[in-house]
Amino acid sequence: MDLLEKYGIKKIFTKEVKSLDEALEIANKFPSVVLKVSTSLPVHKTELGLVKLNVTKENLKKEYEDLVNKIKKEGIEYSGIIVQEMAKPGIEMICGLKEDPQFGTIILFGFGGIYTEIFRDISMRVIPIGKMEAIEMIEELKYKNIFTARGRNYNKEKMVDLILKVNEIAKNEREIKELDLNPVIFYEDDYVVVDWRAVIE
Ligand code: ADP
Ligand code: MG
Repeated sequence: MDLLEKYGIKKIFTKEVKSLDEALEIANKFPSVVLKVSTSLPVHKTELGLVKLNVTKENLKKEYEDLVNKIKKEGIEYSGIIVQEMAKPGIEMICGLKEDPQFGTIILFGFGGIYTEIFRDISMRVIPIGKMEAIEMIEELKYKNIFTARGRNYNKEKMVDLILKVNEIAKNEREIKELDLNPVIFYEDDYVVVDWRAVIE
């Protein structure tokens, strides 16, 4: 979270809590919230049922207790429960970094979240990159027409901006070996990161 803040990458309102009362305090501030496990383990939270979407203050207690029970049943070590504002629907993208034994640090951008496995449409470059390469990474996506289909008009500058910020992280924060912003939810004129994970050397 500190890293995202340092580089001005916009993330959804997020707080880690240790009790139902703390969670309720946050749920009172938004029409609906998301509950998820806070763990440093590389788990696919959704597959294990450890992400609860569209939680309202009316069903918070039930969903919170159900989540904690599931975490305990899975035997996952966790530091608390993440409570987030529920983001508006948009296009789920991925942006991140990974280490390649041959090429060094690779930056990636493409369709993420629920689309990652379905589309397998992700561009990659060896870092460092400049603005032209960031634009190419968007332009070479097979399904990029989604950004302009049916009168949509996604602002690609916002995507370029995010890719270049991740490029800066790769250049400056050498201890970051992997970064996974997935999904970053894009809107026509904005974006918000709702899930992130970093591997630090
Ligand atoms: P994981 O990748 O570990 O399964 P995520 O936190 O990425 O868990 O959540 C899985 C999916 O749930 C996301 O791809 C997105 O569709 C949805 N989601 C997660 N957090 C939010 C949020 N704050 N607002 C809206 N949707 C969310
Ligand atoms: Mg995710």
